[in-house]
Amino acid sequence: FLPHLVASMEEVEQTYIMIKPDGVQRGLVGEIISRFERKGFKLTGLKLFQCPKELAEEHYKDLQSKPFFPKLIDYITSGPVVCMAWEGVGVVASARKLIGATNPLNAEPGTIRGDLAVQTGRNVVHGSDSPDNGKREIGLWFKEGELCAWAAALEPWLVE
Ligand code: UDP
Ligand code: MG
Repeated sequence: FLPHLVASMEEVEQTYIMIKPDGVQRGLVGEIISRFERKGFKLTGLKLFQCPKELAEEHYKDLQSKPFFPKLIDYITSGPVVCMAWEGVGVVASARKLIGATNPLNAEPGTIRGDLAVQTGRNVVHGSDSPDNGKREIGLWFKEGELCAWAAALEPWLVE
């Protein structure tokens, strides 16, 4: 058995997940990480990081023209964030489901935002919205050498 060869490589995606400053301040780091772990995805990058303004602006550049953009940048740079890269079959869309709707009041119970947050401006976690953005965002937030490709021993029990 070669665990890292179990899932065909085209199916495997990467997504950028970030615990926002409110999630860190509220002591939700372990709770949030464990939801992705328990689902069965593989953590390939993890760091606590104080985000500079320029990086926050680049990350959210598609929202530049929105009225809430300045407040969003203040929020994301207001304290340390937890940057994560997660890998797995269908991880991009699945992580978005685990996270729940952008407005936590509309997020289903059982999702991270549905269970742990009340306002859009304090919605505790970010997740990439497409495989292309997953790659783009991981490239923005992580340097080479900070990511770790590893064969998970449990993989044959998660993907056939
Ligand atoms: N946001 C906000 N007000 C809004 C819409 C979005 O403060 O009316 C913030 C919120 O933190 C959200 C982030 O901007 O998570 C990015 O918005 P997007 O529409 O990409 O939502 P997401 O992909 O995070 O669900
Ligand atoms: Mg988004």
